[in-house]
Amino acid sequence: MAGLTPPAQRGFVTRFAPSPTGPLHLGHAYSAILAHDMARAASGQFLLRMEDTDTERSKYAYETQILDDLAWLGLTWDGPVQRQSDHLAQYTARLKPLAEQGLLYPCSCTRSDIRAALSAPQEGTVHPFYPGTCRGRPMSARQPGDALRIDLAAALVQLPPGLGFTETGTAHAGQHILNPTDAITRIGDVVLSRKGEDIVAYFLASALDDADHGVTHVIRGEDLFDFTAVQVILQHLLGLPTPIYHHHRLIRDDQGKRLAKRDDARALSKYRADGATPQDIRALVGLSLHLD
Ligand code: GLU
Repeated sequence: MAGLTPPAQRGFVTRFAPSPTGPLHLGHAYSAILAHDMARAASGQFLLRMEDTDTERSKYAYETQILDDLAWLGLTWDGPVQRQSDHLAQYTARLKPLAEQGLLYPCSCTRSDIRAALSAPQEGTVHPFYPGTCRGRPMSARQPGDALRIDLAAALVQLPPGLGFTETGTAHAGQHILNPTDAITRIGDVVLSRKGEDIVAYFLASALDDADHGVTHVIRGEDLFDFTAVQVILQHLLGLPTPIYHHHRLIRDDQGKRLAKRDDARALSKYRADGATPQDIRALVGLSLHLD
């Protein structure tokens, strides 16, 4: 965007942004250590943010454990820990410009309505793909509890050609220019404010925070790569800068499956209880000697 300083000229600010909905496992340790080490190597900043917009699943006990695990790993962060649940109303207020541009519509569809309207399973899409049932409903028709969705086709018309982002992670390194047709078929009209709660979707809160906290480099797991296009679109519509993205490899279990929160066997607390040292964890995730 004109007038915004490109990330490369703003130094290096990155973050670790866990959702406190379970204990940290080896995959999180990899992400946190990588971001921390890259920030320190660049004499930059490493921020810590709790992405706890999922008020049902987020637990304070997990947050406490995460802070303890990160400190045990020897990671230090700059500034206070940010907590998204402290800013829920502010995130919602940031939807206003999108509503004013006519890019939002209220949606009352339930999951089963959406499933019923879809004729085929949606492989390779960012979200359960939305068939557009409520598209065109005016904001004035919003009922309490309705979700808000973006009218993606209307939003894409406003995007300048060549809009995209720089990726430095090995798997997708290079410039990624958004392709509107691809965005419509793979992203669709995603929910920006969740049904029943008036709480913005985590990928929007995350993009807003990255901009507000001056994050220049988003370092996170490859499983989030597909969200990047949505975030870049929102950044453009809201006049926010687009950081550089670095999606790193995922730590997998012995069967090659990505670790999930429920993989308690890989929880850091389990390794700690078994007597592992922070150096052992670094060695296990392959970050003792080099960054990748
Ligand atoms: N809170 C997300 C997670 O724990 C990370 C989002 C991000 O790094 O952008 O998976």
